[in-house]
Amino acid sequence: MLEDFPFLERKIHYLDNAATTQRPNRVIEAIANFYRSHNANIHRGIHTLSMEATEMYEKARERVAEFIGAKPKELVFTYGTTSSINFISRSLIESGVLREGDVILLTTLEHHSNLLPWQRLKKYGISLKFVDVDDRGVLSEDDVISAMDGVKLLSITGLSNVTGQRVNIEKVVDAAKKKGVLVHVDGAQLVPHVKVDVSKLELDFLSFSAHKMLGPTGMGALYVNEKYLENLEPFLVGGGMIGRVTLESSTFADPPEKFEAGTPNIAGAVGFAAAVDYLFDFGMENVERIDRELTSYALERLRELDFVTLYGPTDERQTSIVSFNVEGIHPHDVATVLDEEFRVAIRTGHHCAQPLMRRLGVAGTCRASFYLYNTKEDVDKLVEGLKRVREWIG
Ligand code: PLP
Repeated sequence: MLEDFPFLERKIHYLDNAATTQRPNRVIEAIANFYRSHNANIHRGIHTLSMEATEMYEKARERVAEFIGAKPKELVFTYGTTSSINFISRSLIESGVLREGDVILLTTLEHHSNLLPWQRLKKYGISLKFVDVDDRGVLSEDDVISAMDGVKLLSITGLSNVTGQRVNIEKVVDAAKKKGVLVHVDGAQLVPHVKVDVSKLELDFLSFSAHKMLGPTGMGALYVNEKYLENLEPFLVGGGMIGRVTLESSTFADPPEKFEAGTPNIAGAVGFAAAVDYLFDFGMENVERIDRELTSYALERLRELDFVTLYGPTDERQTSIVSFNVEGIHPHDVATVLDEEFRVAIRTGHHCAQPLMRRLGVAGTCRASFYLYNTKEDVDKLVEGLKRVREWIG
């Protein structure tokens, strides 16, 4: 499998997968092949190339939908999780599903992309309510469930990009259904690392990004439960999503086309499907196993270092991500030495989660995040590097 990933030739211990993953040859080739031999705009053309491109785009939709257990029409292509959440928040307001006086429930764990789009709705008389985490940044599902009364919609991360906590979405969705609360899951980290099946979960909406699961950047998806497809207003309007247009008014195409105005990222969709094919073949159960093994090995090794503070659950609820700080040393200095001296790539800073940083009482953390091509050797190199950082700067 390692030979599938050309980036490994760089001999970099790449531990920044929560930011973006690397691509296997299969994805790179699928995108190159599209541009080389099938490039044309979709849907509107009747020439051969346009029909080929349309078929590839729609096949990609089928494949990505299958990956999460959705029907193709429930899968809207977007530019990524951020664009999906902007889409769904605006569409819910435009469609009158969310109305003045409604309350949206969020948590302190959320990425800015699952916070700012909802903050924007305040001007429509929507209010936000938050479930807090504990001092280590751990979210309790029971606290989320207790806070649901009187709430219209819960928008929650499925897996924290800072602490790696895998939120028990099944439990939360189950309670939400009983209380009549709509649920949107930010699946940016969840979908790449854990098998998600919306047909069993009964979610309302789910957002995720291709680039965090071996696919291209600028590509993502929004799952919309079919019960909303007819009445949900599109976020973007314009070319490609219309039925009949007059100077005064227009009708829209059927879903999901009505949600995809303008020329989409066609090659991105093809690359996304190739990434999903790769994950299907590799097996999500293997992805989950590798992520868990590396996470528990990293936690075990980092616990040996008495100058390291760990955040998050630090138990089996945590997967694919470890977040920590080195006593007395700024995270950026840690990352610089790891990069320059050990070729270990980690991410430092607030990880687009400033409220969580404030809650943890830190300006930022160091974050190592894993994916299927990582090995224990990468973790060992990280630990060796941290020991040196401590000796040199601590
Ligand atoms: N939500 C979470 C939990 C994330 O980790 C990220 C990206 O890091 C996002 C949302 C935003 O994803 P994108 O930048 O692909 O839109």
